[in-house]
Formats: sequence, structure tokens, C-alpha cells
Amino acid sequence: MLQAAIRVLQAQGYKITEPRKQVLEVLEGAQKPLSPYDIQSFLKQKGKYLNHVTIYRILDLFCSLNLAHKVLSIGGFVKCSLGTAEGCHRFMVCHQCGAIQEFADKELCQGEDAFTRNLGFHTKYHLSESSGLCADCFRKQFEEQKLG
Ligand SMILES: [Zn+2]
Ligand SMILES: [Zn+2]
Repeated sequence: MLQAAIRVLQAQGYKITEPRKQVLEVLEGAQKPLSPYDIQSFLKQKGKYLNHVTIYRILDLFCSLNLAHKVLSIGGFVKCSLGTAEGCHRFMVCHQCGAIQEFADKELCQGEDAFTRNLGFHTKYHLSESSGLCADCFRKQFEEQKLG
């Protein structure tokens, strides 16, 4: 994944600077969405220092290239798990256990575009997220209800 991300950066003409590599590595190893402050403290543990502005800029760049995304309801950043999948990359976020699953569906995007076009709006991209229960948490809840 790190190598794939580096190839994307290079293909778009971006240099692989040490700070960019460091942020990529932190996102790579993360188990949950990270804020720029989280990223900074992870790096600090490894004896490295980046200021917030630098981290924000790097995250902006990664997001614009679909290498990372912001999870809206959490406000943290995760690495992209879909690569070059077509359509806007979105998340299903479990509010019970925090599990996050990324998906992309071109037809969903086209449907939304058609909907807004009918209202005279020209959509460039979509920001949306599904909040609810993951399959595991839903099943647990269902079973508990049955027992209770
Ligand atoms: Zn993605
Ligand atoms: Zn869950």
C-alpha cells in the first residue's frame, strides 16, 4: 500500500518528501481515523517532529489524490482502502464499535448527480457517509433482543 501510494504521488509529479512519507506510514499503521494531532503525537513517539500546518497540507494533498479520506462524522483521516475504484469513496461508520468500511459506487454518484441536475445544480463531488450498525453489532443487538 505504501509503495502504491508512493507511485500515485510520483505519477502526479509530487516529490516523495520525508514528511509525506512519515504521514503515509502513520496512516498505514493506524487502526482508527486520526486527527492531525494524533499523527503528530505518533511521530513524536518515533522522535520525529512535523508542525500542524505541514500535516494539514499533506493530508489535503493525500485527500485530493484519493490516497486518504476524512471520515466526516469522526473528523479523523484514514488511508484509502479502495485504490482507484470509480465513484466517490464513502464510509459506513458503526456508531457502536467504531468499525469503518469504505465503499464506492459510480451509479450511486450518477443517481445523485441526476437528482441535483433536475434541481438546476451541477454537482462536482459528493460528501456523504452512512452511520449505523455494522453487521456484527446489528447481529449482536438482534440476538440480545431475542434473548431479552
Ligand atoms: Zn478511497
Ligand atoms: Zn459495529
